[in-house]
Amino acid sequence: MASEFDLIDRYFKRAAPPGMLGVGDDCALFGVPPGMQVATSTDLLIEGRHFFPDVDPRALGHKSLAVNVSDLAAMGARPIGCLLGLALPEVREPWLAAFAEGFHAMAHAAGCPLIGGDTTGNPGVLAISVTVFGAVRPDAALCRSGALPGDDIWVSGALGDADIAYRLLSGQMPPDDALLAHTRAALDWPQPRFALGQALAGVARSAIDISDGLLQDLGHILKASGVGARLYLDDLPVSAALAGVPADRVRHAVLAGGDAYELCFTAPADRADAIRVIGAESGVAVTRIGAIEAGTGLTVLDADGAPLRDLPRGFDHFRSS
Ligand code: ADP
Ligand code: MG
Repeated sequence: MASEFDLIDRYFKRAAPPGMLGVGDDCALFGVPPGMQVATSTDLLIEGRHFFPDVDPRALGHKSLAVNVSDLAAMGARPIGCLLGLALPEVREPWLAAFAEGFHAMAHAAGCPLIGGDTTGNPGVLAISVTVFGAVRPDAALCRSGALPGDDIWVSGALGDADIAYRLLSGQMPPDDALLAHTRAALDWPQPRFALGQALAGVARSAIDISDGLLQDLGHILKASGVGARLYLDDLPVSAALAGVPADRVRHAVLAGGDAYELCFTAPADRADAIRVIGAESGVAVTRIGAIEAGTGLTVLDADGAPLRDLPRGFDHFRSS
C-alpha cells in the first residue's frame, strides 16, 4: 500500500509558483507585496454535515477550495495559496485522484495553489479543512463593518439554485429530475467570485459571501456596520432554472437559501456605473437589490411597497439537521 508520503507526492505535490516554497518541506514560504496585508480564512467540511457521503469526489475537491476562495473574494483579496488538511477514514486512490483533480483545477482557476497541508487516517467520517491566504491593501479590504446609510446593496449572479438542489437531494421536495439537473451544479460546483471581489476592493464599502442565506449574511453586514436596510423583492435575481417552482419556495430559496457563494456588497450610490462596469469586466451579473438605511432592521418590500411579514431566517443546510 502507498505510504502517506507517496500519496502526498502523487496527489497533492505540485510545482510551486516562482518565489514560493510549496509542498514538501516543514513549512511553505511566500511573501506579500509591500503595503499589502495577508487575508486568511479556514473552513472545515465534515461528511454528513456539509456534504453527502456519496458526493462526486471531483466536485468535493472543487467545493472545499471554492468556499474558501469565496471568503477571499468577499474580502477583496487576491488569492496567494492554500493549505489542505485531510482526515481520511480509508485510502481509496481513485477517490483521492478525483478529489485532487477537482481541488487543483479550482486552485489553478483562482490562482490559489496548494502549498501544504496535513494528511492523516481517521476511523470515522471524512473531514476536510482548507485554509486560504490572500493579499489585500488594508485600506481597500471589504470588511463587513464598512456599510454606510445611502449605500446601494448589490448581489452577484442569481440566487436560489443551490437551496432547491439541496432540498431535492435531501427529500424535502418531491423528486424532480429535470429541476435537479438544472440546479445541482450550483450546489456541487459553486463558482467563487474572485475576479469580481478583487475588482470591488477599494470601490465597494462592505461585502460578504452568501453561505447561509441572503438575509442572514446581509444581517452580518448590518450588525457589524450598525445600520439597517431595505430590499426590493422584485429586484432580487432569481435563477432562470426555478421558473416552474412554486413562488413561496422560490422566495424562501432566494432570501434564505444557503450555499450560494455569491457576493452581497454595498457601495456608495454614485459608484453604481462603476460597479456595472466591474461586473461586466468580471463576467458576473451584478444586481442592485436595495439600500442601506440609518437605524437598524431589515425590511423586504414587495412590488406594492408593502413590507413582507414573517421573513424566513437563514438556515444551515446540514448544520441544522
Ligand atoms: P510534518 O510532519 O513536518 O508536518 P508531513 O509529513 O505532515 O510533514 O507533510 C509533508 C509535506 O507534505 C509538508 O510539506 C506538508 O505541507 C505536505 N502535505 C501533507 N499533507 C498534505 C495535503 N493533504 N495537501 C498538501 N500538502 C500536504
Ligand atoms: Mg504534518
